[in-house]
Amino acid sequence: SALVRLNNVSKRFANGTLALQGMSLDCGEHDFISFLGPSGCGKSTALRLIAGLTRPSSGELAWSGAASRGAERDRELGFVFQEPTLMPWARVFDNVWLPLKLSGVSREAAAPVVKDALEMVGLSRFAEVYPRELSGGMKMRVSIARALVTRPRLLLMDEPFAALDEMTRIKLNNDLLSIWREHRFSIIFVTHSVYESVYLSNRIVVMAPRPGRVIEEIRIDEPYPRG
Ligand code: ADP
Ligand code: ADP
Repeated sequence: SALVRLNNVSKRFANGTLALQGMSLDCGEHDFISFLGPSGCGKSTALRLIAGLTRPSSGELAWSGAASRGAERDRELGFVFQEPTLMPWARVFDNVWLPLKLSGVSREAAAPVVKDALEMVGLSRFAEVYPRELSGGMKMRVSIARALVTRPRLLLMDEPFAALDEMTRIKLNNDLLSIWREHRFSIIFVTHSVYESVYLSNRIVVMAPRPGRVIEEIRIDEPYPRG
């Protein structure tokens, strides 16, 4: 069953820019979808529409289950941006606790769940550390743990590793694949890297700019030898 479904969705901004034209997509359980294309092809716009951060100008967009009720969407969707956007004054633990804290979960009650999330990204030993003490790759891991701490069914990632050096990026790609395989949530991953899209995803949505649109979708049935 589809977690989120876009039917002929377009987005035109107030200044007249047609950022996305007629996009249709079904994201199912345990999908790993990448949006692949050059700058300006509407990848971020499509992701922001799916996140509910902006509304379609036309067409339909529907979430299934709890996410269709606005208040619960925050728990059903995790979001990772290119910038880790951690709170510099808070320890790693408290950064990861944040989404639970915002939905009323105490620090004590959250502790085992936060621990699990940190373990998932290999940062168990860094719970009491401040973000400034971490490398770029580790900050990104904290950001992933924070996005997964509510156990969302869908993780949205907007060029998450683009600012990292290549070795760190390769390591994070491998670890993200392992986490996805083990925990069976779905991922929509925005990238302009052909390498990343082929290596990571089982469905590649290829997009082009002016106006932003989908050119084709490639399904990878035989998994590329990976991990
Ligand atoms: P990508 O993520 O593929 O680089 P975007 O979705 O960011 O593409 O942008 C698609 C197009 O829409 C671009 O031409 C961009 O400049 C334009 N755009 C994005 N956001 C806005 C906005 N808030 N207002 C006007 N135009 C926008
Ligand atoms: P990305 O790094 O994903 O390509 P951008 O740097 O293009 O994103 O855009 C960053 C932010 O600025 C986004 O929130 C986007 O909506 C907004 N934006 C992008 N292009 C325009 C534009 N032409 N007019 C207004 N806002 C824009």
